[in-house]
Amino acid sequence: MTRRVSIFGATGSIGQNTIDLIARDPEAYDVVALTGAVNVEQLAMDARRLNADVAVTADPLRLAALRAALAGSGVEAAAGPDAMIEAAQRPADWVMSAIVGAAGLQPGICALEQGATLALANKESLVCAGALMMSTAKQHNARLLPVDSEHSAVFQALVGEDMHAVERIIITASGGAFRDWPLEDLAQATLAQASSHPNWDMGQRITIDSASMFNKALELIETREYFDVSPKQIEVLVHPESMIHALVGFNDGALMAHVGPPDMRHAIGYALHWPERRNLPVERLDLAAIGALTFRAPDEARWPALRLAREVMERGGLAGAVFNAAKETALDGFIAGNLRFPQMAEVVDEVLNRSDPSHIDAQMTLDNVQVADHMARQAAQNIIEQKAG
Ligand code: NAD
Ligand code: MG
Repeated sequence: MTRRVSIFGATGSIGQNTIDLIARDPEAYDVVALTGAVNVEQLAMDARRLNADVAVTADPLRLAALRAALAGSGVEAAAGPDAMIEAAQRPADWVMSAIVGAAGLQPGICALEQGATLALANKESLVCAGALMMSTAKQHNARLLPVDSEHSAVFQALVGEDMHAVERIIITASGGAFRDWPLEDLAQATLAQASSHPNWDMGQRITIDSASMFNKALELIETREYFDVSPKQIEVLVHPESMIHALVGFNDGALMAHVGPPDMRHAIGYALHWPERRNLPVERLDLAAIGALTFRAPDEARWPALRLAREVMERGGLAGAVFNAAKETALDGFIAGNLRFPQMAEVVDEVLNRSDPSHIDAQMTLDNVQVADHMARQAAQNIIEQKAG
């Protein structure tokens, strides 16, 4: 039986890895929608190759280019936020949510409202609106499957287990580009240095977030939202080799570790074939050749993002939406050259401290999440301008 699949963020790193898996077995899938933003040539090429029903770019100014690239293919072309939502409302069995940032939230919610299985790479949706995502899934009999290497690892370690027996969840972190830098050098870190990851090949934004540990901060919150454990039960462990992705600790002292190569096609493929396991084109680890795996405690002076994530979990409500929006804006500031690397965490800290409690305590609806997001972006922008000026 063919499965109807859509891929949001098809032109990105996760999107392309998803297409790599799907294109190996074209008979098995009926591709509904592919979405992208800037790279409409790639989007059109994949839409043609996979014979998608529709290709959507987030940018209305690129519609003409997308149309031209799709001419004669029979693939529909569309652009803009409304087209994105319309594509997300098309019935599909399995949807990959791989847009980067809070922009992925609404399309993901729409897919859940259709009862689709949502493979969630877009961790920002859980950080901004975890309770809303989970309740929407429940209400529409939809399913959320994690596509973050750590969360897929935890999910796999929990198969057949009773959550009552879980004492703790440990997510690992490579430590990113600046793991071993002297602290005083971080203020001089360049964009190019922050954009190069020691182990993983990913989009630029998540790569920089790995260096600052904002990625792990988001993942702490993602763990809390997805697995419904208390913040105290979640630990971060620095593991420079990125072979163990997560561990689950049980009440009999056992630790179940998930070990695998740093290749996102494993987590994507697990979510694609779940509950089955199928052969995937990833490296088979030779542990004897690897020899040793090492671990360290995370240093919160180096990575203040981890402390901020704990404060956000403590605060609850829409604090996650504020945190994520401030982080995205600070990251834009660093990419644009308006902030030094350590200043990103300062901006996020200040936005959290100054934000209006009424925004954070508002009911978790999509509208209120978007308001909290908008206000936090503005506050972050003001702080960045003060720092730059
Ligand atoms: P990427 O930057 O490579 O790709 C992002 C995709 O989103 C692209 O298709 C881009 O066109 C699209 N996009 C960007 N802005 C958009 C907007 N405003 N509206 C609509 N579409 C937009 O990012 P990535 O590394 O593939 O990451 C995607 C998501 O997966 C992120 O949430 C990231 O945290 C998560 N993730 C990625 C990895 C990885 O290995 N790359 C691992 C775990 C989780
Ligand atoms: Mg991860």
